[in-house]
Amino acid sequence: MISASLCWGGLSHDPHELEYVWQRDLLPHVLAEPGKIIAHGAGRSYGDVALNPGGRLLMTERLDQFISFDAISGILECESGVLLGTIQRLMIVRGWMLPVSPGTQWVTVGGAIANDVHGKNHDDAGSFGHHVLSLRLVRTDGQLLNLVDPDAPLFRATLGGLGLTGMIQSARLKLMRVPGAWMEQEIQPFHHVDDYFQLAHQHDPQWPYTVAWLDCTRYPPRGLFMRGKHSPLADQIPKEKHRRMPWSPPFSLVNRLSLHLFNPLYYHTNRLKASPRLVHYQPFLYPLDHIQNWNRMYGRKGFYQYQCLVPPHSEREAVKALLQTIVRSGRGSFLAVLKTFGQRTSPGMLSFARPGTTLALDFPNESMQTERLFQRLDRIIQEAGGCIYMAKDARMPVALFRTGYPDWERFLDYRDPGLSSALSRRLLGC
Ligand SMILES: Cc1cc2nc3c(=O)[nH]c(=O)nc-3n(C[C@H](O)[C@H](O)[C@H](O)COP(=O)(O)OP(=O)(O)OC[C@H]3O[C@@H](n4cnc5c(N)ncnc54)[C@H](O)[C@@H]3O)c2cc1C
Repeated sequence: MISASLCWGGLSHDPHELEYVWQRDLLPHVLAEPGKIIAHGAGRSYGDVALNPGGRLLMTERLDQFISFDAISGILECESGVLLGTIQRLMIVRGWMLPVSPGTQWVTVGGAIANDVHGKNHDDAGSFGHHVLSLRLVRTDGQLLNLVDPDAPLFRATLGGLGLTGMIQSARLKLMRVPGAWMEQEIQPFHHVDDYFQLAHQHDPQWPYTVAWLDCTRYPPRGLFMRGKHSPLADQIPKEKHRRMPWSPPFSLVNRLSLHLFNPLYYHTNRLKASPRLVHYQPFLYPLDHIQNWNRMYGRKGFYQYQCLVPPHSEREAVKALLQTIVRSGRGSFLAVLKTFGQRTSPGMLSFARPGTTLALDFPNESMQTERLFQRLDRIIQEAGGCIYMAKDARMPVALFRTGYPDWERFLDYRDPGLSSALSRRLLGC
């Protein structure tokens, strides 16, 4: 039994029994053993989606083999524990890349499918699930299913299915052609939420990647709108200089004082980098990976990420109301990110990404004070017809889950009854 924190937010230290698999053929035997189990990839989900306190976790990190790659079509088949960063590194030199990648490369293929993750280019590329061609799924009754029809209900339940429809053994992914490892980046400062929406809705297909950082210690917030595109130009490969947060302090280093120092500094430093420049894909796609274990700066009580999405008809008013509520509470966030998604509806029954705008913010865990703020934010989301991202969640109320994910009852028909997580017990009752 291991009781170290197995989620990125560091919110739970409950003991777990860890089971490692080295060979994909062994999965049916491991799953057949008694006791509820759930897959655990790289543990980059913030909350309890990959936790099973008191029960078994199937650790997939050693299922890390590439099975085949066709350099003409860009179709890659690999085991589910392969890291997205490994795919990027090995494929980019062959002129291919993952079409969708989240804000960290330390995520497994299985985890990216089970949360149907999104990147900064949703308008262009949709979510990760749009690029999954087929899946091999092992159920706890011993069946090994080869899912090849992306429109079939079990396929759609498995994309964004939170690991609850079976263990993904391997997947075939369609990669995207790229001219190289470099990207052109532009930054535009803005001073109001309306300015953000104006920039976000001027979608220019030449610039498929867009994201904004916000200083949410003040209202109206100032921010930096960043856009990027792949570039055929090349520069020197930057030396991989990763910094590391060596330990968890007893208290959070993120507090009102540090936020009021950091946010203006970040804004002004990056504002000066506004003119177009060439950046390597790693700092562009994965800026947070620069500091390993940065999550430790929130101290031993950990932190929450609150990531919500509001639909197009209510996005402006809802985002304003959310930011005003956060500023009034005095609990800003280092990391406040706004992204506007395109029209492509995600394929999964429980997928998060859909048309609208998503806001993501990190908050130190200050127990009831944090929860009271979240309850106010939940009300805004509920009224706006929005939802909360389960990859980040550790506390959403059941009512908000049900309205935010209206296909949840249909999903239950495809669930594997032998699989269970802390999140499934919290939101689905078992
Ligand atoms: C710094 C940072 C930035 C991020 N940015 C983004 C972002 O921009 N966009 C976004 O969408 N997400 C983002 N995320 C969240 C992250 O992409 C997701 O939580 C992702 O699912 C984590 O994958 P993992 O391999 O760590 O899986 P885990 O967190 O270990 O597990 C996630 C889910 O996948 C299931 N699972 C894992 N492997 C398998 C398998 N083989 N078969 C079946 N189910 C499986 C687990 O049961 C669980 O339900 C970010 C996270 C971090 C830490």
